[in-house]
Amino acid sequence: MMAVLYGPGDLRLEERPVPEPGPGEVVARVRAATTCGTDVKMFTRPYVSSVIRLPSPFGHEWAGEVVAVGPGVEGWQIGDRIRAGNSAPCLTCRFCRRGLQNLCENRMWLWGAFSEYIRVPERFLKVNAQKIPVGLSYEEAAITEPLACVLHGAVKAGIRPGDVVAIIGSGPIGILHAQVAKHLGAVKVIICDLIEDRLRIARSVGADVAVNVREEDPADVVRAETDGLGADVVIEAVGTPKTWEKAFELVRKGGMVLEFGGCPPGTTIMVNTELLHYGEVTVMGAFHATPRDFEVALSMIASCTVDVRPLITSRRPLKDIHEVFRSLVEEKKDLKVAIIP
Ligand SMILES: [Zn+2]
Ligand SMILES: [Zn+2]
Repeated sequence: MMAVLYGPGDLRLEERPVPEPGPGEVVARVRAATTCGTDVKMFTRPYVSSVIRLPSPFGHEWAGEVVAVGPGVEGWQIGDRIRAGNSAPCLTCRFCRRGLQNLCENRMWLWGAFSEYIRVPERFLKVNAQKIPVGLSYEEAAITEPLACVLHGAVKAGIRPGDVVAIIGSGPIGILHAQVAKHLGAVKVIICDLIEDRLRIARSVGADVAVNVREEDPADVVRAETDGLGADVVIEAVGTPKTWEKAFELVRKGGMVLEFGGCPPGTTIMVNTELLHYGEVTVMGAFHATPRDFEVALSMIASCTVDVRPLITSRRPLKDIHEVFRSLVEEKKDLKVAIIP
C-alpha cells in the first residue's frame, strides 16, 4: 500500500506491487515515516513544481529495513537499518562543486515515505543514505530530514555562543531550531507561537522564554529580554509573509534575520530600508540541506544532542493517512505523527 497525492486535498491509498530493486538500488520496508509541515503544505495548496510534480508518491521522512538488494550494490545488505534523504544532489553541477549541494541544478527527489515499501535509487545510496545507529528507533531516525534543514539554516545564520535567539513559530521546525540554537551556545532562546501546547514542548526542550502571541506582542517581550536592543538572531519558522515581516521587529542593529519557513509561491514581503541600511540588519533565506547536514543530523539525534522524541505526538497506521492529514490541517493538535505501516 502506498499513499499517492493527486492534488490539494486529494490523497489516495493505492495497492502497489512490492517494488523490485534495479541495478545499484535497494528496496526498504518502511518501519516509520513522520509527517512534516512540508507535507501539510503539499496537501493543502499548490506546491513549487520544481520540487514535486503531481500525482506523486507522498511523504519524505522515513526509516526502514533493507529487504532486497539489486545487482552491483556495495555496502548494503538485507536486514540493514536504513534511512535516506529526500534529495540527492548530482555533485557535478556548478552549485555542487561550490559546496552548495542543497541548491543543486540536477537534484533528484525521493517521495513515497507513506508506503509499505520504498525503492531507493542508486544516487541516493551513494550520496545521501545512512545506516541507522544501533539503539536509535526508526521514528527518531525518520526525523533526520527536518533536523538537517534546521542545522543548515542555523549554521548559515551564524549563531554564536552568547547570542539571544528569537524564534517565530513553535512547530516541529521551531522546536528543533530552539534545541540547535542552545547547542550552538545561545544564552537565551525566545520562542513564539499561538498554541500553548507547542510552547510547553519548546520549554521542555530548553527554550528559555515562550511567548503566546495571543497574549503578548513578541516584539515587546524580545525588547524586555534584551535591554531594549533586540535579538542577535531571529529565525522565522512559520512560512507566511506576515511572520517574515514580523521577524524584522525582533532583531537588533547588526543582527541577522533568517527567513526559514517557505511561503506560498509568488508572495512578497516589505522591508524597511532604514533597518537594512542604518541598522545593518542582514536577512537571508535557507533551503533544504546538504548530504553532510543529513549525516550530522542523524549523529546528533543518535547522541541525544537533539531530542526529537517530544516532536512525535501520536502514532497511526498507514490506512489512517487521510484522517491524519485532515486533522493536521484542521485541528493542528499534533506536532508530528509517526505513520507505522
Ligand atoms: Zn520534512
Ligand atoms: Zn548538482
